[in-house]
Amino acid sequence: MENETATHAGATPRTPTAEQIRRAPKVLLHDHLDGGLRPRTIVELAADCGYRDLPTTDPVKLGEWFREAADSGSLERYLETFAHTCAVMQTRDALVRVAADCAEDLAADGVVYAEVRYAPEQHLEAGLSLEEVVEAVNDGFRLGEQRARQAGHRIRVRALLTAMRHAARSLEIAELANAYRDRGVAGFDIAGAEAGHPPTRHLDAFEYLKRENNHFTIHAGEAFGLPSIWQALQWCGADRLGHGVRIIDDIETAGDGSVKLGRLAAYVRDRRIPLEMCPTSNLQTGAADSYAEHPIGLLRRLHFRVTVNTDNRLMSGTSMSREFEHLVGAFGYTLDDMQWFTVNAMKSAFLPFDERLAMINDVIKPGYAELKAEWLFGGPSS
Ligand SMILES: [Zn+2]
Repeated sequence: MENETATHAGATPRTPTAEQIRRAPKVLLHDHLDGGLRPRTIVELAADCGYRDLPTTDPVKLGEWFREAADSGSLERYLETFAHTCAVMQTRDALVRVAADCAEDLAADGVVYAEVRYAPEQHLEAGLSLEEVVEAVNDGFRLGEQRARQAGHRIRVRALLTAMRHAARSLEIAELANAYRDRGVAGFDIAGAEAGHPPTRHLDAFEYLKRENNHFTIHAGEAFGLPSIWQALQWCGADRLGHGVRIIDDIETAGDGSVKLGRLAAYVRDRRIPLEMCPTSNLQTGAADSYAEHPIGLLRRLHFRVTVNTDNRLMSGTSMSREFEHLVGAFGYTLDDMQWFTVNAMKSAFLPFDERLAMINDVIKPGYAELKAEWLFGGPSS
């Protein structure tokens, strides 16, 4: 089911407007629940639970504070901002609210399918069990899907359970993901600072999931280079790579524009390993210098299985539409390119094959066909 990228003969490929980008069906595979809160929700939850360490209780200023802290250029400092969001996500009500907001916000932005990840072990401080955390977030996603439907948007949200690289609970979290696999949890992930915490420390969790025929992705090749990607794939057996931008280090571009892939880059492309790319987040952590120089441009030209993602909407002040607006601005992408990225993402989702196919054929392709036809009728985009 490789996607056709050729444009229709005679039809001018059009750069989508911001409004078309928002209405276009989008698929999100890499988004952190604790990185996507509305600033107002943080302030209100902090008041509810008596958390007094927020830098400000003005929602607008708080939103700015998160973006500035994340802009500092260091992955370690970026991760510090999560202390505040996790602090207000310790009760069932708070988790339900944050998850419902998340599904609603994504749906309003035109996302039709999302896998949203979080680390259950970071939400136990007020006495919830791991199971209660998962059930609260699931209930929140269902509530958000319902509210979105009432507002005229359609979205399906699945959870990915994350284990932290520096902690020692990965097998337990993998077992939790497996226990809830038919109840809202699509897979497993590991996250956190890469330096000093190789994914191979969590082999028992990955081997367990493989024996259970379950799915997982690994944050790899963001701050750290090729060895991290190689371990994630060849030692751990990851189905997808979180970021994976450093795969560019295994690709040589000669002066005449010709390109040579090293063994690892060739493997990633040949095996159609999905890359969950998060351009704005990469700029903030210094993994790329500008949108125009982001490896996504070359990787898309070389037909890697590239997908576009938000990572942390709060810290990056972003959304799926904004990510695409930046890419359209940097690379002149058309609606055909957007469809290509979106179909790539849907193919790479941890949903059953028949559901992925139906999402592509019955939701995504008709959605893009409609947008692409608007120029014929002098519609909103003309
Ligand atoms: Zn991430």
